[in-house]
Amino acid sequence: DDSRASEALRIIRALSDAGFVAMLAGGCVRDALLGKSPKDYDVATDATPDAVRDVFGKRRTLAFGASFGVIGVLPPREDRSADTKVEPTEVATFRSDGDYSDGRRPDSVHFGNAEDDAKRRDFTINGLFYDPAIGQVIDFVGGQADLRRGTLRTIGDPAKRFGEDKLRMLRAVRFATALAFQIDAATRDAIHVHADQISVVSGERIGAEMRRVLASPSAAEGLTRLVDCGLGDAVMPEINGLDLAALADCLTELQPPTAVTVLATVLLHTDAPEAGLRSITNRWKLSNQEVRAVSAAIANWRTIAQADQLPFSTVQPALVDRDVDAILAVARAMVRSSNQTGSPEQLGSSGIESAVRSLGLPADALDPPPLLTGDDLRALGIPAGPKYRVILQQIRNQQLDGKISNRNDAIAAATLI
Ligand code: ATP
Ligand code: MG
Repeated sequence: DDSRASEALRIIRALSDAGFVAMLAGGCVRDALLGKSPKDYDVATDATPDAVRDVFGKRRTLAFGASFGVIGVLPPREDRSADTKVEPTEVATFRSDGDYSDGRRPDSVHFGNAEDDAKRRDFTINGLFYDPAIGQVIDFVGGQADLRRGTLRTIGDPAKRFGEDKLRMLRAVRFATALAFQIDAATRDAIHVHADQISVVSGERIGAEMRRVLASPSAAEGLTRLVDCGLGDAVMPEINGLDLAALADCLTELQPPTAVTVLATVLLHTDAPEAGLRSITNRWKLSNQEVRAVSAAIANWRTIAQADQLPFSTVQPALVDRDVDAILAVARAMVRSSNQTGSPEQLGSSGIESAVRSLGLPADALDPPPLLTGDDLRALGIPAGPKYRVILQQIRNQQLDGKISNRNDAIAAATLI
């Protein structure tokens, strides 16, 4: 996004006008050198957090990460448009991290210079700066050479770096997958050695990384890497013993591959999809929305795939489900890949086509207002009770299947049930 980039450049100019060193840092430099458009532009500087707040004023700054040296800088008020949400640019003071004793975060941070700051970062390709004043990449860690080689490598001794922060092992899989890089042999060996220690990382943080591995066209490669690095057992035991090549064939058919659709498809390749989802929900703290969509896809894809052979009343609930998009995406991928492998089941793209055609029905045909309510049953003198649900459902099904189309027929049918 160009406006994010120019905002970061303006911030850098303001800092250097005030006499500080300031550069673009980390992911945005990596992505720009790879010709990808960066998600966000981070600034690194030798100005302390207090100095950054002085340069831009308290009203333009957010001290959300001041304790580890990060200040959010907002665009000047007059440049903020009313309708779009303003995202602060992160301005981080150069630092070197102290010892790590919890396997996740440094015990203390010390402000330092650019080289210290490069060396405390995780991977060489993430340790680059770009100085816009001279138009040059500043590389203390050999990141440019690794970008050219397509290699993911820790900065410094991999065993030490993974020992400090175990989450980096999963970040290695995530970056290598997203960029289609190979993981350097020494880095991979060190992940292998430390893999079981990933359990000191909270399930939530693991889940955040795994969502990014899954929500990708290369999700199958990501899972293969996870297993190859020895992280499979601790991070996602559900895929233990899975035929990852067959899974890959199915995942390539998935449009779009989101965390939800990929997770549903992966679980459908296991023996116990629902149990797997429950366990992952607890470990990764999936949101209610995510859980709802994954279980809807797991429960309903088959109905969609067989839609041409089923009564409309059986298919309709899946079609009016709020997660119908996920259900359809998973159904398509499952059908396409099962056709390749010659599945004996009566699943077919014609079922999906007929489901999609139904989706095109006007709302009052896809989900017509019910012909009868409980009040009608009471007026008919039917004693209230659990039978009401059964009757109303049967009437509803007959309505959806086109067997009854008006109130009088519905009342007549209800008295027969
Ligand atoms: P993305 O585009 O996915 O956000 P990114 O490189 O910006 O990629 P972030 O997680 O946003 O990744 O982190 C920003 C930078 O901070 C990284 O490029 C890296 O230099 C550094 N960093 C982040 N997490 C760690 C970590 N656990 N250990 C060391 N350095 C890290
Ligand atoms: Mg980032």
